[in-house]
Amino acid sequence: MHAQTHLFPCLQDNYGVLLHDPDTGATASIDAPEAAPVEAALTEMGWKLTDILVTHHHADHTGGIAELKARHRCRVVAPHGEAAKIPDADETVRENDTVRVGKLEGHVLETPGHTAGHITYVFPTDKVAFVGDTLFSIGCGRVIEGSMEMMWGSLLKLRALPDDMRVFCGHEYTQANIRFAKTIEPNNAALIARGQKVDMLRGVRQPTVPSLLGEEKQANPFLRADVPAVAKAVGLSGQPAWKVFAEIRERKNRS
Ligand SMILES: [Zn+2]
Repeated sequence: MHAQTHLFPCLQDNYGVLLHDPDTGATASIDAPEAAPVEAALTEMGWKLTDILVTHHHADHTGGIAELKARHRCRVVAPHGEAAKIPDADETVRENDTVRVGKLEGHVLETPGHTAGHITYVFPTDKVAFVGDTLFSIGCGRVIEGSMEMMWGSLLKLRALPDDMRVFCGHEYTQANIRFAKTIEPNNAALIARGQKVDMLRGVRQPTVPSLLGEEKQANPFLRADVPAVAKAVGLSGQPAWKVFAEIRERKNRS
């Protein structure tokens, strides 16, 4: 059987998500912003927590780990590069390492930039990717610990995944991201269509996450820095894609 996922809000605008293997009963929490909403989600679904897969060290992704681990004695998997900042980690993982949740098999992509050791968990058979704060729907994370060139490289790695991959990110920022994206590509039909869909979802307080990677490739300006029309829109025709990306990211920081 295929994996099941369950998304729920945490803190101000974070998302928690559970990944469940119906065959074995194993359940992973992807990050743990805070313990109580994760507990409530487990109870609602009737699932038992076996693993926590951590994308990066920020407090709004790790704040619930200690309490959940103490209660469930679950395994905590964390990025190798951030082990010192995630003291409850049982295992650390690097690029291409395999991560199993029951019989579900995923692998690790190192996607640094937002933080220096940020990782993404990809489950190819189940067509899900947990990208933390690297990629958002129609946006991307702030480049806090890495360089702009490094972050662009991470986004290219994610863009190389198949179009039908469902992308789970860490925050509900999509509406604001779309407003910004339209300042870069006001005539992008895929972006306009996504905007209409997102307004409808938010109008009835539904999440815009997960999104399909194929939609992101068409509409997310941060994945489109190597499209000539995007470079032209920010006055950087002919420049390296990472510089175009950096300009878009800096404009978003100021927006
Ligand atoms: Zn973060």
